[in-house]
Parts: sequence; structure tokens; C-alpha cells
Amino acid sequence: MPPKLPIYLDNNATTAVDPRVLEAMLPWFSQHYGNAASRSHAFGWRAEAAVTEARETLAEAIGATPKEIVFTSGATEADDLALFGACRANRARGSHVVTSMAEHNAVLDPCRQLEREGFEVTFLLPDRFGRTSAEAVAGALTEKTVLVSVMAANNEIGTLNPIAEIGALCKSKGVLFHSDAVQAFGKEPLDVHALGVDLMSLTAHKLYGPKGVGALYVRATNPRVRLQPLILGGGHERGLRSGTLNVPGIVGFAAAARLALAGREDEQASIRALKDRLWDGIRAQIPEVALNGPPTERLAGNLNVSFAGVGSDALMLSMKQVAVSSGSACTSASVEPSHVLRAIGVPDELAHASLRFGLGRFTTAEEIEYTIAALADAVPKLRAASPAWQMRA
Ligand code: PLP
Repeated sequence: MPPKLPIYLDNNATTAVDPRVLEAMLPWFSQHYGNAASRSHAFGWRAEAAVTEARETLAEAIGATPKEIVFTSGATEADDLALFGACRANRARGSHVVTSMAEHNAVLDPCRQLEREGFEVTFLLPDRFGRTSAEAVAGALTEKTVLVSVMAANNEIGTLNPIAEIGALCKSKGVLFHSDAVQAFGKEPLDVHALGVDLMSLTAHKLYGPKGVGALYVRATNPRVRLQPLILGGGHERGLRSGTLNVPGIVGFAAAARLALAGREDEQASIRALKDRLWDGIRAQIPEVALNGPPTERLAGNLNVSFAGVGSDALMLSMKQVAVSSGSACTSASVEPSHVLRAIGVPDELAHASLRFGLGRFTTAEEIEYTIAALADAVPKLRAASPAWQMRA
């Protein structure tokens, strides 16, 4: 059966809200609409109870305790709170931060701002697969290091980092460790104690929950992490993040986490099989393609491929029925080649020829076959129309 068009293969950018998540959220808009901070009536108590339950669900999902979960507007805010909050609150302990050049801009931009505030930041060059090793982090630590920030899974090329090893290193050196685990949550096992993280950023919209809600895990003991809040006014979330809580969003976030964790291994196995079929199909039908990112130790649903001689914008235009992205959708306003592909040494012309496919829960085998056929049709035509490619061939 032909698939319904257009086809959505951009699940690293965002995901559809699962209908079961939407159903869980709906009553919290117009039926139970109380403010979770209203202590004087049943509407408020009900909303607060829903937030408490969601907090417990999310804490359990990552092996934390409920009071270690701070709800935010998403992972950009969680990353900002982790970096600014930990660095500014612990300035007396040190003024050096270690991170990787392959991080999301939600980490890189705060790091650049911290530099302007007088912190020194080491941006580690990842290996050719986008990986940051514990040895590389160890080599960068100084007496002044206060925080290390390394993502669990890369949003562009799917690399899984050795978070537990980096966590153990940081613990042994008494340095705080933050991980942006947005892309790994619900896909890879994440236990804050096993990983040794002190701060961890999450967002709902990458795991079939709503946009605009996320969380920061903040370790409460061994060590108790101190943070300076970014948003003041009301003292919500134990004073770490003021503002009326997004109750429907929080309920949806917890429902999404519950669903993702319940079926995680089976779901990831079937997504991985579809991703492997996509890569096998591309390789079988199109010469001169290259995988960006690691061959193994990667997210099940991510595939980032360079099609030599073909501009990614032209390729996306010639297969408008397939929604993919080039570089990172989060930075698609810029025409610069992806900073992640640059960091792993992909030459600019191949970075400009790359597409990111993000498969997810609702991807079907028919959609993958359609996509392979669309690529096999478009790439040779674009190559044939390219004088540079013809001269080279
Ligand atoms: N970190 C990573 C790794 C991401 O992929 C994203 C995606 O947008 C973010 C942070 C930002 O999250 P949010 O959209 O919830 O602000």
C-alpha cells in the first residue's frame, strides 16, 4: 500500500504528540484548569496533585527522587539553567567549564555567554564519530574546573557518549557533571546514579509529548547541587524556576515518558530495523554516499548521510513529500554548515550535501521504501544536472 503523503522523517527535531498523551492532557485544559500553586481551593489542589504524580513518574523514569525534578519550558531552558545556574552559584569553587564542540546550541550559546562573564570554557573536539571520551575530558580538567557538560546522544548524527565513564571521572574529581539527555530519554536507559550525572536536561516533545515543557534533574544529595535561578518571581519549583506551572504539558510529559519506557526496547528494535533498511536501500541504489556519525553506539532512529555532489537544499526540494532536515533543524535559520559535521571533520561540500533522517514510533516500512525510491530517483538527476559533478566523474 502506498504511504500517506507527506512522510515525516524528522523525529530528531520534534515528534507527533501520541494520541494517548493528548487524551491524558485534554481534561487539564478546560476541566481541571486550576493553578497548581493555588492552595485555597479544590481546583488548585487537583492541579497540584497531577503535578506531583507527574513529578513522581519522571523521577522514577530516571532513578531520581521527585524533589530533584525542576519543570521548565523545555530543554533549552533546562540547559541554560544547568550551565548558568551551576556556574554562577559555584563561582567561588572555580571558573572553568568543559564541554564538546558537538553539543546543541542550547549548551554552546550559554557557554559562550559564560566566557563573556569571565569563565574559561574548553570546547573539546569530538572524535570522527562525534564522541567525547572520558580521557578527553580528563585531559581538559584543571584545578578551576567547576562543571563538565556532555550530551548523552547527539541530535544530528546520533552518537551515544560514554556518560557513565565521564560521570565517574567527574565524581572522582569533585566536578559537577551536566548531561543534555534530550535525544536519549525514552530511547536509551537513563539512570542518574548509574550515569553519575548531577544535572540532566529533558524535554517532552522528542518523545511524543507536547512542545514547551521539559525538566532539569538537579541532584539533591552526594553532592547537593546548588543553582542560581534564571527566572525569579513566586518561588515555584523550590525557588529554582518561578512561573505558573504548565499543568497540561506536565501531565503530557509524564504520560509520554510512561509510554516510552514501557515499550522502549521493542520500539527501539523496530525503529532500528527500519533505519537499517533505509541505509541498506540508499547504499544499494546510490553510489558515493557516506554515513555521518558512528556505525554502532548510536541512536536507533537517526541516520545522517552525505550524498556527494548534491546540495541538501536541492535534494529536499526535489523530494518535497519527505520531511527531513539538513544539518540541525534547530539552527536551520543559518546557512553555515552544521557545526557538528564540521567538528567531526566532514568537509564543507559534504556537510552541505547531508540529510538527517529521524525515524520514530509512527514510521512505517512503506514510508521507508517510498523514501529510498525518492532518493534513488532524485540524486542521479541532481548529479546529472551538476556541471561540477560531471567534470569530476
Ligand atoms: N538539546 C538537544 C540535544 C536537542 O536536540 C534539542 C532540540 O530542540 C534541545 C536541546 C532543545 O530542546 P527544546 O526544544 O525543548 O528547547
